[in-house]
Amino acid sequence: METSIRNSLLAWFRREKRQLPWRGTTDPYRIWVSEVMLQQTTVAAVRPRYDAFLERFPDVSTLADASEDSVLAAWSGLGYYARARNLRRAAQIVVRDHEGRIPDDPLALRSLPGFGEYMSAAVASLAFGSRLPAADANVDRVLSRVFVIRGRTGTRAHRLRVLEAADRILPSRRAGDLTAALMDLGQTVCTPRAPRCPECPIRTSCVAYRTGTVSRYPEKKAKEPFVDVPTAAAAAVSGGRALLVRREAGWLSGMWEFPSAAGASPAAARRALRARLAELGLGLDRGAPLGSANHTIARRRLAIRVFPASERRGTKRRSSADVGWFSGADLENAAVPTLTRKIARACGLLPARD
Ligand code: SF4
Repeated sequence: METSIRNSLLAWFRREKRQLPWRGTTDPYRIWVSEVMLQQTTVAAVRPRYDAFLERFPDVSTLADASEDSVLAAWSGLGYYARARNLRRAAQIVVRDHEGRIPDDPLALRSLPGFGEYMSAAVASLAFGSRLPAADANVDRVLSRVFVIRGRTGTRAHRLRVLEAADRILPSRRAGDLTAALMDLGQTVCTPRAPRCPECPIRTSCVAYRTGTVSRYPEKKAKEPFVDVPTAAAAAVSGGRALLVRREAGWLSGMWEFPSAAGASPAAARRALRARLAELGLGLDRGAPLGSANHTIARRRLAIRVFPASERRGTKRRSSADVGWFSGADLENAAVPTLTRKIARACGLLPARD
């Protein structure tokens, strides 16, 4: 059965493989950047950003020399900014410890920032042809169905069973092709909802298909419920520029944001914002909100009202490494998350849609 799956998948991949910007290369840097971008982000969202990122940072040493600000700016809108910070830190270590060459040893890869079990195996397999199983969410889904692997996806026990299954079908040479074939199959045929089983090249070997149990695999982990978070943000705009503050810690560390605060209710959020603004020498102006925006991040649904604000009399205009004034045009090339762009649209600093 394993041989049949392997041969059918590789034949299908030769015929049907998708033309993606990171395909057809064994350059480990290009493969690494694509894999980092594709973590938590769809192919459709990565496609237009991948070439632009590589144009700006064409190789490991350029990335290692770049400022964190410029790397975050190039990552703006892709989310999960720790990925970009790790990418740059790992590039610096590759330059410092490996003469600028990404190591082909999976253990050496694993020691780099951002290289977990999957990333090390994916780069080693796709770039260097190492015979290492790598299972992203697509591979996990395909193999869970083909081999009816029980257990909740995302758990260590389930992942080990998936990796064992992948190991059984990997060829001894060009293992990366089989890994890429499984990824493609999961993205285009064996999709989470409504998989196209009648067109699948391995349907005759797929136990879930043969037993009519496809919808049971993989077993999903229960999702945490969404939490609604009333949020207030301040737009202090002067001379066509808005005051933004740089986030010091957390996921968005290093990114520029409008001052904001959350609360148990919209009124509580506004009170918390007032206190936050006092620290910055700002105050809320009278009047209705300038606009509103919604944003979801990590199961938190932010309902944001944007209030006008201005500097308090006698306050010296602040501008430092952590406080800056940005025009709409400045935001195009700055390290700003999607939420900042939404608030900029809500207060008129950016046009209604980018
Ligand atoms: Fe997925 Fe269906 Fe193919 Fe099985 S037969 S691998 S469930 S698409």
